[in-house]
Amino acid sequence: MNIVIDSHTHSVASGHAFSTVDDLARGASKRGLKGFVLSDHGPGMPGTTHPYHFGNLRILPPSIQGVRFFSGIEANIMDTAGTIDLEPYILARLDFVMAGFHEICFADHGREENTQAVISALKSPWVDAISHPGNPAFPIDLERVVAAARDHGKALEINDSSFRIRKGSHTNCLQIAKLCVTLGCPIVCGSDAHYWEDVGRFDEVQALLEEAQAPEALVLNSSMERFEAFVAARRAARHAAYVAESHVHA
Ligand SMILES: [Zn+2]
Ligand SMILES: [Zn+2]
Repeated sequence: MNIVIDSHTHSVASGHAFSTVDDLARGASKRGLKGFVLSDHGPGMPGTTHPYHFGNLRILPPSIQGVRFFSGIEANIMDTAGTIDLEPYILARLDFVMAGFHEICFADHGREENTQAVISALKSPWVDAISHPGNPAFPIDLERVVAAARDHGKALEINDSSFRIRKGSHTNCLQIAKLCVTLGCPIVCGSDAHYWEDVGRFDEVQALLEEAQAPEALVLNSSMERFEAFVAARRAARHAAYVAESHVHA
């Protein structure tokens, strides 16, 4: 299977990543990718982006260095209600919204409350996918999470960096991939690059998808058409939720 879009990359805007948007685009091009998502950390993480970063992503062109550019965020799940750290009016206009657990924003609450937090995020109209759900530092009920993602039309990520930096991720990621296959839940593959050379690095993800016998049709970023269709549908859903919410508050 060929992964043609990297759905998870960080630029210098994340505060602890080391490449510019143009560097990331060149990295994507060098790997032969067709596109990448810029998914800098949400403002809830200390030393990272200000909300203005996400508000101003609209000035960037749809193609950079010859590859398709998608605006995005790796938002932080802040509580068990699944709250994330960016305002709906900005979330409504991004291409791809991921949310995930990061210790500095949400300490491990134990399996039941972690599961509740992820499922609440999946239920919310703002979140399109969960980043590194296989992280063993945040135990969750994998079966319930995969079923919830499938039910809400959301995706779960298999993250290539997890195999190096989130020790013990392999068992969970393999189980997630197998459950996604069984239950029919979309998968996205992200490198989680914090340096341009890692954009499109999917060695471990590819091996795992093969082991889980994941069909290409289930992997959103194995085709530009499939990924663009998902992005368009989720963007429309977020925009509709924002319009509905502003009417309620008006
Ligand atoms: Zn992360
Ligand atoms: Zn990340």
